Amino acid sequence: MNNKLYQPLIFELSHSGRRGDGLPDYNYGSAGAALPSALLRSRAPELPETDEPTVVRHYTNSSNNNFGVDTGFYPLGSCTMKYNPKVNEAMVGRAGVSDLHPAQPAATVQGALRIYRTLEKYLAEVGGMAEFTLNPFAGAHGEYTGLMVIRAYHESRGDEARRKVIVPDSAHGTNPASAAMAGYDIVEVRSLPDGTVDVSDLRGKLDSSIAAVMMTNPNTVGMFERNIPEIAEAVHAAGALLYYDGANLNPLLGVARPGDMGFDVMHINLHKTFSTPHGGGGPGAGPVGVRAGLEKFLPDPRVVEKADGSLDVEFGETAFGRISSWLGNFTVYIKALAYILTLGAENLAKVGPLATLNANYVMNSLKDLFELPIPGPCKHEFVFDGLRDKSTGVTTLNVAKALLDYGFHAPTIYFPLLFHESLMIEPTETESPETLDAFIAVMRRIAEDASNDPDKVKNAPYSTPISHPDEDEAALSPVIKYADLCSSTD
Ligand SMILES: *Cc1c(COP(=O)(O)O)cnc(C)c1O
Repeated sequence: MNNKLYQPLIFELSHSGRRGDGLPDYNYGSAGAALPSALLRSRAPELPETDEPTVVRHYTNSSNNNFGVDTGFYPLGSCTMKYNPKVNEAMVGRAGVSDLHPAQPAATVQGALRIYRTLEKYLAEVGGMAEFTLNPFAGAHGEYTGLMVIRAYHESRGDEARRKVIVPDSAHGTNPASAAMAGYDIVEVRSLPDGTVDVSDLRGKLDSSIAAVMMTNPNTVGMFERNIPEIAEAVHAAGALLYYDGANLNPLLGVARPGDMGFDVMHINLHKTFSTPHGGGGPGAGPVGVRAGLEKFLPDPRVVEKADGSLDVEFGETAFGRISSWLGNFTVYIKALAYILTLGAENLAKVGPLATLNANYVMNSLKDLFELPIPGPCKHEFVFDGLRDKSTGVTTLNVAKALLDYGFHAPTIYFPLLFHESLMIEPTETESPETLDAFIAVMRRIAEDASNDPDKVKNAPYSTPISHPDEDEAALSPVIKYADLCSSTD
């Protein structure tokens, strides 16, 4: 085992009395006496005590164990790990933005509210929707918000018997989860062999108990659902609404709009299509858009334009009140707007076609060695069903781990659930031909190694701090205390 993992904790590096600063002791005098004694510490907090170089090296070395879009190619299908432009961060760092407090009166934050409103309008334009709210904190949170909008719509019409939501079997797990959170039962609809929704199966399941149908387009196997107008008509005829999971909006940029296809409600993952960081890189945002007629069901608060041209934050009479604190994750909106303005309409329209071109290039360069269950052409991503050579026992998990030795992040594995050995690749538009070629060369080499020397691939990776953790054991009896970890590995 590579001992890089067992970097000591900052607490283990602590030496009593060691300091990294040279500030004089400050005597608080009688200030402490003003606090109720119940709130005062009886002993000093147990903080690590180290010198400055030790602290800096500790955190710098820890950060070097991370993999991110700034360190290497990250073809994680379904997640759209596009590059996060640094100009976005520069915009957030400006004093007019970073020094704001969310409780400031609207009159003192007119610029910030203008950013907010401008982004809402741009997203409405991109989605072909009448109105957007930026409030939700993530894609899944947007799904939940959108379904609550749909629920409020049905309730406003006294149509409360609609207790079910239809979700395709290829859907992202958040779709059924969000529908269940919103109080609905889930009905699954089948996919055809080409990965698209089986429209006749869908038709058979539409009745007056259905509140909504959730669709992703392109779907989670990277195929464009060509029958949306027909589906929209059937869904609307049954009195239900059509929800667009916008996690795969990237390939549609500049090409098509969900609103024009007949979708009623949608969300956009700003950390996917609009280049804001994912996960640990920063908070997320999942703005929700609605077609005309559904605006009044959006959550509070709304940024509204007054007759004199100024902006205000308003709490209306909406059906389910707030979905987030304040106006949501404000810095994310600045980054997304910076991205839109940096690219401009003309370049934004190239994003979808380039993401599609890159995915097809990688797919076609590897399909002689990897099983391609749905032949394509694909949109922004595609799914292999493991290696073509099935004689070696080398699995998708082995291939994913082998990639790590070459400095690439693994693609998404074992999702979607339609295939046994799913390996889902999404290169995004931001990668150069050289990067794509380097990735293709490594994937080909791993496939050839798998046939010639399967154990070499099965035992990879060789260069990472951990290579083959016991994943079942980790899930069944997780060791969550550092002290237990130390005793269990001695
Ligand atoms: C990422 C994703 C989601 C969930 O979005 P989060 O922002 O991670 O909550 C939903 N559906 C699809 C298809 C996705 O790819």
